Amino acid sequence: MNREETISYMNNHGILPESKFGQNFLCDEEIIEAIVELCSATVDDKVLEIGPGIGALTREFRANDIDITAVEIDKRLAQYLSEEGFNIVVSDYTKLKAEDYEPSKYTVAVSNIPYYVMTPIMMKMMSDLTNCRKMTFMVEDAAIDRIDAKPGSKQYGPLAVMCSSYGDFEREFTVPSGCFVPAPHTTSAVITLTRRAGDTFVPDSAYAQFLTRCFANRRKKLTNGVPEAKEALGKLDIDSNIRAEQLTPEQFKALYAIINS
Ligand code: SAM
Repeated sequence: MNREETISYMNNHGILPESKFGQNFLCDEEIIEAIVELCSATVDDKVLEIGPGIGALTREFRANDIDITAVEIDKRLAQYLSEEGFNIVVSDYTKLKAEDYEPSKYTVAVSNIPYYVMTPIMMKMMSDLTNCRKMTFMVEDAAIDRIDAKPGSKQYGPLAVMCSSYGDFEREFTVPSGCFVPAPHTTSAVITLTRRAGDTFVPDSAYAQFLTRCFANRRKKLTNGVPEAKEALGKLDIDSNIRAEQLTPEQFKALYAIINS
């Protein structure tokens, strides 16, 4: 849908965008097509979208005959999309239980993420969608510092380690605020995370919880909060006084493997 069609859909359905849900609807057809193309989904894939809104991306997937399911928190928007025949789960995604949406069946995922809840949504998608080969996200441009943060930096935390463990990060392109109705206050960017060929490590929810524990007291040494890491650090020849923010994603993986062996 272009800008006129988006505004007309909103007017016809009496939709006033809810800022509490981060509702900024994408209305630039070129960007919509570019995002769907980046997902590289085929008719054999099952796509999961978080936050379909009024269906900017969802419609484009359907136009390409791609099987898509979407999770939407806003009951009204979910109802309109359901009435149009879309497969919608009405829920706050951060609270959705795995048994209520079969996450392992999805092979591709996409979200124009509501910015107020970016980290929990990305963490949950990576933790739950264990068979997903590619994730495409629209995020606030400024948030990329946290997603692609490097060890030792202030921004480095569970989200950056999880993303790096999930796959290869790419910043694809910038999306100006004028491409949305209403326009957000910040510039956005589209990013992708792609699983590496042959990578057998799956960063699931247990791994996400482990990372959260590791970073709970980032200024203190890791073994204060995670005492079982002491022996594993020794085996890896890493100083037992190290802090979580100093460990690389590869070291986190190795540590986790030893602790759970
Ligand atoms: N995908 C649409 C687009 O590109 O135009 C809408 C994107 S809008 C930025 C974010 C959408 O996520 C809204 O429809 C909002 O209601 C929904 N949303 C916000 N918080 C959510 C949550 N916790 N779980 C599921 N959907 C959520």
